[in-house]
Amino acid sequence: MSDTIFGKIARGEIPAKVVYEDDRALAFHDVAPQAPTHILVIPRKPIPKLAEALPDDAALLGHLLWVARQVAKNEALEDYRIVINNGAGAGQTVFHLHIHILAGRPFSWPPG
Ligand code: AMP
Repeated sequence: MSDTIFGKIARGEIPAKVVYEDDRALAFHDVAPQAPTHILVIPRKPIPKLAEALPDDAALLGHLLWVARQVAKNEALEDYRIVINNGAGAGQTVFHLHIHILAGRPFSWPPG
């Protein structure tokens, strides 16, 4: 299974500004924020991208969204955007599934 920088963060091998963690997931600030608040939620399990999740991962996927909701609440975010980039053509650069939480500025639609 391929390793990524997020795998290293999940194992505590490289530092990150962690705002939430449990046995299945963790959340940390993006190193290159695209909004005043930009936090990533990742599973500890190294699923490369959403399309590679398996039926047994369904509960984990739900948990990640719940964690995103809890992090947004803890950060007192009211309006925020949730993004998952699936594949390089959609903007994915780190191949360890992650949810972006973006907030603190207006967001246009459709996204670029
Ligand atoms: P994506 O383009 O959807 O794959 O998002 C990857 C995100 O990971 C980008 O927003 C990067 O800024 C962010 N990123 C890359 N390396 C790190 C790191 N070491 N710590 C925190 N965020 C990172």
